[in-house]
Amino acid sequence: MSVKQFEAESKRLLDLMINSIYTNKEIFLRELISNASDAIDKIYYKALTDDSLSFNKDDYYIRVVPDKKNRVLKISDTGIGMTKEELEENLGVIAKSGSLTFKKENELKDGHDIIGQFGVGFYSAFMVSEVVTVISKALGSNDAYKWESKGAEGYTIEPCEKDSVGTDILLKIRVNTDEENYDEYLEEYRLKAIIKKYSDFIRYPIKMDVTKTKLKEGSEKEYEEYQEEDTVNSMVPIWKKNKNELTQEDYDNFYSEKHYGFDKPMAHIHINAEGTVSYRAILYIPETMPYDYYTKEYEKGLELYSNGVLIMNKCPDLLPDYFSFVKGMVDSEDLSLNISREMLQHNRQLNLIAKNIKNKIKSELEHLLKNERDKYEKFYNSFGRQLKYGIYSDFGSNKETLQDLIMFYSSQEKKLATLAEYVSRMPEEQKYIYYASGESIERIEKLPQTELVADKGYEILYFTDDVDEFAIKMLMSYKDKEFKSVSSSDLGIEADDNKENSTTDEKDGKELFEYMKQILSAKVKDVRASKKLKNHPVCLSNDGEVSIEMEKILNAMPYNENKIQANKVLEINMHHKVFESLKDAYENDKDKLKLYTDLLYNQALLVEGLPIEDPVEFTNNVCKMMI
Ligand code: ADP
Repeated sequence: MSVKQFEAESKRLLDLMINSIYTNKEIFLRELISNASDAIDKIYYKALTDDSLSFNKDDYYIRVVPDKKNRVLKISDTGIGMTKEELEENLGVIAKSGSLTFKKENELKDGHDIIGQFGVGFYSAFMVSEVVTVISKALGSNDAYKWESKGAEGYTIEPCEKDSVGTDILLKIRVNTDEENYDEYLEEYRLKAIIKKYSDFIRYPIKMDVTKTKLKEGSEKEYEEYQEEDTVNSMVPIWKKNKNELTQEDYDNFYSEKHYGFDKPMAHIHINAEGTVSYRAILYIPETMPYDYYTKEYEKGLELYSNGVLIMNKCPDLLPDYFSFVKGMVDSEDLSLNISREMLQHNRQLNLIAKNIKNKIKSELEHLLKNERDKYEKFYNSFGRQLKYGIYSDFGSNKETLQDLIMFYSSQEKKLATLAEYVSRMPEEQKYIYYASGESIERIEKLPQTELVADKGYEILYFTDDVDEFAIKMLMSYKDKEFKSVSSSDLGIEADDNKENSTTDEKDGKELFEYMKQILSAKVKDVRASKKLKNHPVCLSNDGEVSIEMEKILNAMPYNENKIQANKVLEINMHHKVFESLKDAYENDKDKLKLYTDLLYNQALLVEGLPIEDPVEFTNNVCKMMI
């Protein structure tokens, strides 16, 4: 019999499992029991929709049998089983192999992350076993097959005997090492505890022979031990229990058992709704971002159950895009089992549930923001961008829902602030909510455009995400206060010390600026006296809707053929010594004025984080100044 090789990726994962230093090895049992339960679900589901099959509940169960003498732990199920081809396909290749390529080699070394994040299922058996044997007979088949593997070398498949449909998994448990006690996975009390901890809500009985004591026959005080089959799990799904019966640990365990994420969830929402539509749901707000969250591979959605039976793994219609980070499940009696994907979309009940869920998530986030600020900020650092996208997308139709959940870094508080907080701090005469866009907080802090606003004592919100300005353009105003970029040409404030002589000033520079504008020709729309600069000689501002920051973002997008241009205005600080030099050059040396103008324009571009067209010419010009 030939030994078959695992697919390359499965082999990598397998190596990881075999050499795992993962501290949570006990989860292998949870994984195998979940698979067994899924296999029974498949028969159950078939029977519900196929009249030729009958489903007698008593015939369906999972059995866990430790055999200490031979060091074998057996997990059997009466589920749908696997054909020869299925054994090969399912156990020779990792189902979710695609996700593994995502991880870089060095990240792979960190077994903890991988094991948690992907829920590697079946392969986790190798963490505790020297040999794994799977004996299976598929529904509707007369033949049974045995799959066996010692790990890295590959696996074998051969025909074998098995009376009934279902699967037996036999684990040859490893011998103890200095660091690791494997014997415990053959101990009845330990197995019972693991099942209780992770698999209590499994809908089918998990049976084990457990040791009990009874009075010896004919004796009144002597006891003897005997074995009796018992169901270890309570079989009530966690979402059907009352909130007060459940602990934080129960919710956390359910989260990892379901592979919703590898982190500890930040908050959970347990809903038991009755009324126009009845449903139960357990929803989680994760704390950390899944590695693929902001990629197109990420699929949003909640598990959907109809009266306890899983009908869809990821139902996207239950979650709006801006809450796509939420994980969890919904169970409703009001949904039919045979409902198809298309029917679901137009299902009134489902829409009602979705709306209800959306409101619950919103309240939970508001609650966190109000009462657990640190947690909320941690969450916001991971998922804030998604909320801002939410404001921007769908033509702003969700801005009411989201505007109180977003935050920006505040120039004054030096930490995140909500819009409500900003507005409450605004001095009476302040007309606008000011913001400044840039690559990072450090860069924005140094922007010359912020000088006047900051000098006035007004708070500035720092926009460091691509989406920020777009979202704010959609929002337009908050509590009747309009947003204003510090880069816009009219800030709605004047520098106090400029006021008296500003008219003479402007006249002073008029011809000079006109001349400079001609030098720069198409590069700028105008050259003007600045009303916002104090210490810096120049800056760029913009007229109109497209800001310089937006120009940068839009032009960085791939496939964007039509380059978008902001209407740039070069602002000159007339109180800066440089202005005197400009005036002097204008009157006496036009070549010098051209040189100065080019230098100042390029300086302004650099400060703005924009590329300069000809860096060599620029550096040559700088040198010219020195000699
Ligand atoms: P996952 O369960 O996440 O798909 P696993 O590696 O745990 O990944 O299992 C791979 C596949 O093998 C399952 O999707 C299922 O089709 C099949 N399988 C595993 N265990 C059983 C079982 N006890 N009965 C029937 N099929 C099983």
